[in-house]
Amino acid sequence: MKIKGSTNIVGLIGHPVEHSFSPPMHNAAFDALGMDYAYVAFDVNPQDLHSAVDGAKSLNIKGFNVTIPHKIEVMQFLDEIDEVAGLIGAVNTIDFKDMKGYNTDGIGAVKAIEEVNSIQNKKVVVAGAGGASRAISFYLAKYGAQSLTILNRNVRKAQSLASDVSDSGLIGDVKADSISEIGNCLANADILVDTTPIGMHPNINDDPIAFAEDMHEDLVVFDAVYNPNETVLLKEAIKAGAKPVYGIKMLLYQGAESFKIWTGRDAPVDVMENALKDTLSLE
Ligand code: NAP
Repeated sequence: MKIKGSTNIVGLIGHPVEHSFSPPMHNAAFDALGMDYAYVAFDVNPQDLHSAVDGAKSLNIKGFNVTIPHKIEVMQFLDEIDEVAGLIGAVNTIDFKDMKGYNTDGIGAVKAIEEVNSIQNKKVVVAGAGGASRAISFYLAKYGAQSLTILNRNVRKAQSLASDVSDSGLIGDVKADSISEIGNCLANADILVDTTPIGMHPNINDDPIAFAEDMHEDLVVFDAVYNPNETVLLKEAIKAGAKPVYGIKMLLYQGAESFKIWTGRDAPVDVMENALKDTLSLE
């Protein structure tokens, strides 16, 4: 890639950002399509967020991804928020054309799952009730899931998220319960979405939220954790004959959606996936 006078800049704001996988993923895509764009990561302290967004607009930056800790705070500096991002209450993508914020995290997970099985009319169990669960739960509802059962260690957090998703009117059947009920819930489920950090490097041998004996062959099991690629939960899913969906695919498809928002072009997902795997040192 050659940076020229005409090069369009997109990037990431967060704190910290130096370990992000997004720069290699997006720059590989721009290279493959011969697009005059470059993706740069900017470490922005929370107290500098407003001036960073205003400055980026003045500098004619085309788009940003937004990561921790700015996903919620940044919304107040934008002119418009996409409807589902508003329901989620967090954005991870800004389009400076119209100063509009989007949340592509949940779309990323939904597209990853839909590579394996449609979400329409499916009974979905979601483990965890944090930021990733919130983004994914609203999109599962939007993509036509029949029911959502949100399970969490802290049950009140699950109840609060379930009530927000229910209030959105996107889905009729939303329940909340303790994570300890997962065995009972899976017997009747079509899809399990794990948004807890269990099994994430370096804790790769922790007990998963569910074991093979809790699963069945028709179950789709998605794990948001992407390092390692095959988590302890996905190993159990494979043992049970269930269909695994890897966390790296969520990372990939959230990036592909952001790419489309900024450039108006379909992202070269194969190129982006290879760049991600190289960066994560996966084969
Ligand atoms: P978060 O807001 O901190 O939420 C974490 C959730 O996991 C909470 O519901 C927490 O339960 C639960 N949890 C944590 N440790 C647990 C344990 N030992 N047993 C049972 N439940 C536990 O975090 P987040 O931002 O949602 O991120 C969650 C995971 O998703 C991380 O591993 C992150 O890397 C991954 N992620 C992946 C992608 C991707 O593109 N693949 C994108 C975003 C996030 P309590 O409420 O009871 O504490």
